[in-house]
Amino acid sequence: MATAPQTHPHRHPLAEVDPTIASLIAQEERRQEDNLELIASENIASLAVRQTMASVFTDKYAEGYPGKRYYGGCEIVDQVESLCIERVCQLYGAEAANVQPHSGASANMAVYFTFLQPGDTLMAMNLAHGGHLTHGSPVNFSGQLYNVAAYGVDETEFINYDEMHRIAVETKPKIIVSGATAYSRTFDFPRIRQIADEVGAIHMCDMSHYSGLIAAGEYSSPIPHCQVVTSTTHKSIRGPRGGMILGEAEYIKKINKTVFPGLQGGPLEHVIAGKAVAFLEASKPEFKTYAAQVKKNAATLSESLIHEGFRIVSGGTDSHMMLVDLQPFGVNGKIAQQALEDANITTNKNSIPNDPESPFVTSGIRLGTPAVTTRGMNEAEMKQIAAWIATVLRNHSDEGTISKVKAEVTGLCRSFPIHFV
Ligand SMILES: *Cc1c(COP(=O)(O)O)cnc(C)c1O
Repeated sequence: MATAPQTHPHRHPLAEVDPTIASLIAQEERRQEDNLELIASENIASLAVRQTMASVFTDKYAEGYPGKRYYGGCEIVDQVESLCIERVCQLYGAEAANVQPHSGASANMAVYFTFLQPGDTLMAMNLAHGGHLTHGSPVNFSGQLYNVAAYGVDETEFINYDEMHRIAVETKPKIIVSGATAYSRTFDFPRIRQIADEVGAIHMCDMSHYSGLIAAGEYSSPIPHCQVVTSTTHKSIRGPRGGMILGEAEYIKKINKTVFPGLQGGPLEHVIAGKAVAFLEASKPEFKTYAAQVKKNAATLSESLIHEGFRIVSGGTDSHMMLVDLQPFGVNGKIAQQALEDANITTNKNSIPNDPESPFVTSGIRLGTPAVTTRGMNEAEMKQIAAWIATVLRNHSDEGTISKVKAEVTGLCRSFPIHFV
């Protein structure tokens, strides 16, 4: 019987097959090692999660759900997906889950497509106050297919629930979305459920940003107060890039049909396996310690920035992130993001409530601590980072200062190596 020769093309390593991509991977590893990652939606997946995503499950077609597939050979992926569902339900105390959405946006789309008809009213947080594009932006399907009613913050920069109630009664939404992409405070989930019940709406929380903190008990859980909860799996929960939907069994049953065959084809079983690994990691005591430190680091960073003369939107944070109002420094978000990037500090410009600047310029930056905390940084490093941010923004047109800070930042990063392998 013939055997595959040693030189079978499948056996060649990446560096040999495609030196260009291999080199770009090496460059990205270097970039991540040498930069302070303060983008609130980013994290550093573990070696175990990345190994799983590189596994042979990428080869397998598994349209359908465990035990009900359209293809043969699914006995092993069935175990992977069932285990993933079991772990995530256990982790969050959820009744049921769909772990197939390819991303956070597709998870939201699946819920909307299940419970809304075009023209129905969707209520979610004002994008200018922290809502996500999929919460009704006019450039997103959610804003194009549905009539959008927005709630937001008042002059305290906290959500005004009386106003939310008033708008809900007036507009009769079918879904009320809680959760946001740039709101650092907690949501009053029981109150939102009460409002939803009163107007006959489904309460859906999009916990994408907070899901790691929620898994660890460091942020209030929406699960008992929602029919449906959506999330990404790559932000504070630190899994592979992807999405998921949790909720009451009767709701998930309907959503399952929307995810497949309604919206997606074959599930990414290699990513689902990675999600299973991340949920196992998140159930460990070490992850609780991690999530608690993420919050402590955010609080310290926020206090230290206030000490440096910045204004933090709402005066602080209850989570892993904060919005920094740059106006006291006379610099806008666009300039700040670039100056900080030149000093190896990665952030994103972000509108603040009632921002006088356009969304392309903005008066703020959003900062988050999940990635730097994964590297092992603690309060002392947060104080140092706040001082560097202040130095860079006070001297944003002084190349000498920026390159001096960059050297110091790189030094700190090298003393907290990521250990990619
Ligand atoms: C990040 C995010 C999403 C979108 O996730 P993608 O995986 O980028 O599609 C949706 N909702 C909220 C609140 C988010 O923060």
